[in-house]
Amino acid sequence: MSLHIKIIIGMVVGVLFGFLMSTYNGGTILVTNWIKPFGTIFINSLKLIAIPLILASLIKGISDLKDISKLSSMGTKTITTYLLTTICAVCIGLSVVNIVRPGESVTEKTRTELIEAYSSDAEEKRKIASDQKSQGPLQPLIDLVPSNIVSAASNNKNMLQVIFFAILFGISMIMIPENKSKPLKLFFDSLNDVVLKIIDLIMLCAPYGVFALLATLVAEAPNTDLLTGLILYSLTLILGLVILLLFYLLIVKILTGKSPLYFLRGILPAQLVAFSTSSSAATLPVTMDRVTNHLKVEEEVSSFVLPIGATINMDGTAVYQAVAAVFIAQTFGLELSLVDQLGIISTATLASIGAAAVPSAGIVMLVIVLAQAGIPEAGLALIFAVDRPLDMCRTVINVSGDATVSMIVSKLQRNKT
Ligand code: ASP
Repeated sequence: MSLHIKIIIGMVVGVLFGFLMSTYNGGTILVTNWIKPFGTIFINSLKLIAIPLILASLIKGISDLKDISKLSSMGTKTITTYLLTTICAVCIGLSVVNIVRPGESVTEKTRTELIEAYSSDAEEKRKIASDQKSQGPLQPLIDLVPSNIVSAASNNKNMLQVIFFAILFGISMIMIPENKSKPLKLFFDSLNDVVLKIIDLIMLCAPYGVFALLATLVAEAPNTDLLTGLILYSLTLILGLVILLLFYLLIVKILTGKSPLYFLRGILPAQLVAFSTSSSAATLPVTMDRVTNHLKVEEEVSSFVLPIGATINMDGTAVYQAVAAVFIAQTFGLELSLVDQLGIISTATLASIGAAAVPSAGIVMLVIVLAQAGIPEAGLALIFAVDRPLDMCRTVINVSGDATVSMIVSKLQRNKT
């Protein structure tokens, strides 16, 4: 049986088991004590391998390149394509939310109830966002350069810093004589093989890991009374995400000639892990494996494009920010002008780049989009109830976007040579 079938079975059984347990007295506690830890272990093992993977694969990938001009041309193509897909994502989000207008279906009563129920959660996210906002405009650039690689590599949040170090290290390896860099190259080649083997081993446990994650999520889910008011908003966002996925399939077909089925079959296990973990960073090892071994993107491209993409390219999050911001405005009866909406394109693009690749990062960055567009930040409380399931969906698209861009960059690089 193929891996994605096993993972899907794990997910379905997990959801059913979670439902069953939530109906029994003491079932939730049982899940929390005996099932949840296995989900946590699965996520931890994926995160465990993220930093060694970035270091080994990026250094190997860059040192294989032989000359630096190839790196700079790949870098330019990667960043440009990432930016373009993100802008398309925000535009898709704005289009669907303006056509469906989900905010107009929320009654005054539901609005008040939601704000009352979730205002303290919203306040917490606003505090995190205001800490980030109070920094200077060049802070992201400063944050890119670590002052100590050991401490940078000790925290998965510093993935961009580790990427920066790995690129610098790889470039320097190309610049020294080959006989001097050879031992290091052999070391990183072999380290890379070991890391990839570890990922294979972790993936053998994926069906059980996703079972535990979803069973816990369903069993611990809060009361859903207020969710009905948000169904249209959720459907609008999901529609936007589906349109974006179709757009990816179309550009993959046009630019690389690969069929949608080929792409989906290749990336599906990574999408399923993204859905279950809600984190593109935790999914990175799986994405790397699938894109390199199943979508047949050269390792030198995937090892460069994917770690950067996992941290800066979040197209699903970009769609979400556009839809959520306009939904909140509609709920409060605010009409957004064209200029306001253009502003949302730029802030949502930046906010999705700045969002960390972890669960709920998107809702923190949404605060910035709301503030820029003059939409009441209290509105954050409106969408809290459904944020987790929607986070799972947008993470699937974040990961799919990275895979799409890898295929495009690989094609462009091949055309060049
Ligand atoms: N959870 C998303 C990710 O890791 C980020 C978000 O919250 O939108 O890709």
